[in-house]
Amino acid sequence: MSEGGPLQGQGGQWLNDLLEQELSRRSAEHQLRLRTPITPIDATHVEIDGKRYVNFASNDYLGLTHHPSVIRAAQDALAKYGAGSGASALVSGYSEAHRSAEEAIARWKGVEAAVLLPSGYQAAHAIVQTLNLDGVRFLLDKLCHASLVDAVRGSGAEFRIFPHNHLEKFERLLGDARDGQHQVVITESIFSMDGDAADLEGIAALKRKYPFVLVLDEAHGSGVYGEHGAGYAAEKGLSDIVDVHLVTLSKAAGVVGGAVCGSRNFCAGLVNWGRAYIYSTAIPAGAAAGIEAAIAVMREEPWRRERVRELARRVRDELKRGGHQIAEGDSPIIPIILGSEERALNAANHLREKQILAIAIRPPTVPRETSRLRIALSCEHSDDAIEKLIDAIKDV
Ligand code: PLP
Repeated sequence: MSEGGPLQGQGGQWLNDLLEQELSRRSAEHQLRLRTPITPIDATHVEIDGKRYVNFASNDYLGLTHHPSVIRAAQDALAKYGAGSGASALVSGYSEAHRSAEEAIARWKGVEAAVLLPSGYQAAHAIVQTLNLDGVRFLLDKLCHASLVDAVRGSGAEFRIFPHNHLEKFERLLGDARDGQHQVVITESIFSMDGDAADLEGIAALKRKYPFVLVLDEAHGSGVYGEHGAGYAAEKGLSDIVDVHLVTLSKAAGVVGGAVCGSRNFCAGLVNWGRAYIYSTAIPAGAAAGIEAAIAVMREEPWRRERVRELARRVRDELKRGGHQIAEGDSPIIPIILGSEERALNAANHLREKQILAIAIRPPTVPRETSRLRIALSCEHSDDAIEKLIDAIKDV
């Protein structure tokens, strides 16, 4: 084998030139992405380059990444089942820990069945692959997460996008399908970069008029809303309008993974032709056991979601008082829209100087000219940390 890495010869040269060009362009436009190794200290503190920061950049809304019973359950299962699952679920990667976690997820969500995958990104793909039958057409809210957009685009199915939460345009799309064409609507309950909610009552009214299937991504609603943290649809008493729920277990549940929740038949379909599920190694049993323990904590410690929502209301009120335009609601995701990429990066750096970690979110993750600081709260943030955050944002 030759030395010097894979970018060799003429092919390596043009590839390298193109990569450098593209990276320089992104850098000049303040769009270059860099990773920084971060050492977590606890649910709300991290260390970077030897310095301690309060972390407002994690989706650990309930502080469960560091909950002793979640860690213990994962450790015990790791010791029992091994570090990895060794194969895809249909080969030999599906254990009793997986089955038990799926049953716990299904009970928690109040559905017939659930399937656990290694990530929410994969779950989105598996859902769309399962639904891509018989010339079906997908309709998506414009602010749907990249995992959903990629899944629909990658499926090759027909799709349309409606403006964010715009029910009139959404209804117009529902009405212009071909005769007999089946339609699937995909939206999020709590939007990941905006922290606002879908108009589930409006969608419920349309569902009485049009025969569509509804997929609801509860990545950011699960754990925070509803009895036992079952999600935003549960909180609104509208779980029944949802045909397929997507849950991520990496956010409020503090572990990793994506779950697809719905009817027994839907889950059986996913296991049979959801390629993103079939052709990937199963999530480790340690994670499955951690997830089951996290769901138990959500039932047993309701104070966690009550506190994070109380903090969300407090921070929103304070920021509004300070002249910031902040969306209504009490989700722990609070964006401060600043416009240009540069302004968002400067704001994040300003907070860094005050030992606060919050991330600048830039296009293409969000639309152009809406770069923002995304503040994410946890029930484990102390009152002092919240004061410090509000104070630091005053001069952003
Ligand atoms: N859906 C939404 C709304 C998300 O915010 C995310 C996570 O970023 C995902 C899906 C993907 O989940 P995961 O990180 O588990 O792949």
